[in-house]
Amino acid sequence: RFSTAAALEETITPSVQISYTQHFINGQFVDAASGKTFPAYDPRTGEVIARVAEGDAEDVNRAVAAARKAFDEGPWPKMSAYERSLIMLRFADLVDKHRGELAALESWNSGKPYEQSAKSELPSFARLFRYYAGWADKIHGLTVPADGKHHVQTLHEPIGVAGQIIPWNFPLIMFAWKVGPALACGNTIVLKSAEQTPLTALYAAKLFQEAGLPPGVLNVVSGDGPSAGAALASHMDVDKIAFTGSTETGKIILELAAKSNLKQVTLELGGKSPFIVCEDAEVDKAVDLAHFALFFNQGQCCCAGSRTYVHERVYDEFVEKAKARALTRVVGDPFRKGVEQGPQISSEQFEKVLGYIKSGVESSATLECGGQRFGSRGYFIQPTVFSNVQDDMLIAQDEIFGPVQSILKFKNIDEVIRRANTSRYGLAAGIFTKNLDTANTLSRALRVGTVWINCFDVFDAAIPFGGYKMSGIGREKGIYSLSNYLQVKAVVTPLKNPAW
Ligand code: NAD
Repeated sequence: RFSTAAALEETITPSVQISYTQHFINGQFVDAASGKTFPAYDPRTGEVIARVAEGDAEDVNRAVAAARKAFDEGPWPKMSAYERSLIMLRFADLVDKHRGELAALESWNSGKPYEQSAKSELPSFARLFRYYAGWADKIHGLTVPADGKHHVQTLHEPIGVAGQIIPWNFPLIMFAWKVGPALACGNTIVLKSAEQTPLTALYAAKLFQEAGLPPGVLNVVSGDGPSAGAALASHMDVDKIAFTGSTETGKIILELAAKSNLKQVTLELGGKSPFIVCEDAEVDKAVDLAHFALFFNQGQCCCAGSRTYVHERVYDEFVEKAKARALTRVVGDPFRKGVEQGPQISSEQFEKVLGYIKSGVESSATLECGGQRFGSRGYFIQPTVFSNVQDDMLIAQDEIFGPVQSILKFKNIDEVIRRANTSRYGLAAGIFTKNLDTANTLSRALRVGTVWINCFDVFDAAIPFGGYKMSGIGREKGIYSLSNYLQVKAVVTPLKNPAW
């Protein structure tokens, strides 16, 4: 069934040294002001792999002061956009050069399969910076044909100091979604990584230093949410805060921004995305895609297709095959070749996911397979499939963030639109059909930020991503992300000779 649990006992040693554990402030690696450190774990075993500087309000103050100085006194916002883009391109080249180490560090600290890190996420990471480097010298305002005797133009200016708070499920990719557009637009940055995964952001900071980024332009503080994160979100000298994580924390961020200096806010929050398998579906293909949509990254994706709606005509066959596919999913050491699923990120998430599985069983959904931990140490969970899931069950409403597929039956398109839209979330949706009319109807009716038709998790740098409803505010990636990091200034000049 799965990779044998015994194989988990001998963990493969990743081929990377952990060299950067201090904060990166004003171009230097420095200890926490308090001198404190906190542990970074290997989720395969729960063992500590490094101790990392633990940031609090004082470290955030120091980082913000450095970012403020680099913004106000330059050179970053005053450098030519082309020079900024060259630094970002140099950084992307260094990422390619250090791909193996970065991928190993990412997988070691987060538990995601090494092949996924090395072959998919690291290339995307470098690509995102090349994409944003391309934007740097193409950001410009407009000439506005206003009424009256005036010449009117708009200037698109950087906002200033951007605070950025990222989660643990895609530590490097989230770093790129935030840092890329902020740098391209000429902002300076204080980024707080997730306390579970502090290591790769610090490595990336080192590569930025090597690429020639001036001191203070990018500062990375490690530490937890209520101290370092909250200090950043409520800082009076931070002009903008961008956050990815849970909806609960998103609300806190918005409140802290409102109560401090009304800094601008973008939020990328939770989801409970429907994956809709229509009656004309080729079941084998639909099963594979629905499986990928849910189980990818140990089920730890904000946009995971976590409500699998299947038309009644193909439902029984789908459930049987979804179970068979889950039973063949290879769980094991993320550094072992061919492993599809590593451990969950932490003991908290592990317990939380097992709690949801228990709730599914108690609410009389049918447990088709899985449902238990995998092995006896670390945070591995068996790929789990529930059928007969009803909309009012907790497992159909909450973001489980784990390898738990919930399959629901539907009868017709109007019904599935209504049910899919009842969620408080609106991040993404998948549609599986060959019928163009059905695809068009669903993609317009669903209240979500991304619709994937016969595909899922397509994350090109140019495609905007973000949520409707309680899934967030604003869009990241693509041209839309630039407006998160720009102010628009209108400049009005009287015309001496209006005839011309
Ligand atoms: P979280 O929202 O608490 O953490 C995300 C980031 O916010 C981290 O960097 C954290 O340090 C920071 N943070 C936490 N509290 C803060 C505060 N008061 N002020 C400022 N920053 C703060 O998420 P979590 O506790 O790590 O995970 C809980 C749940 O969130 C998961 O089970 C999952 O459902 C969801 N989640 C969603 C995403 C996503 O991509 N949308 C990512 C991670 C987790």
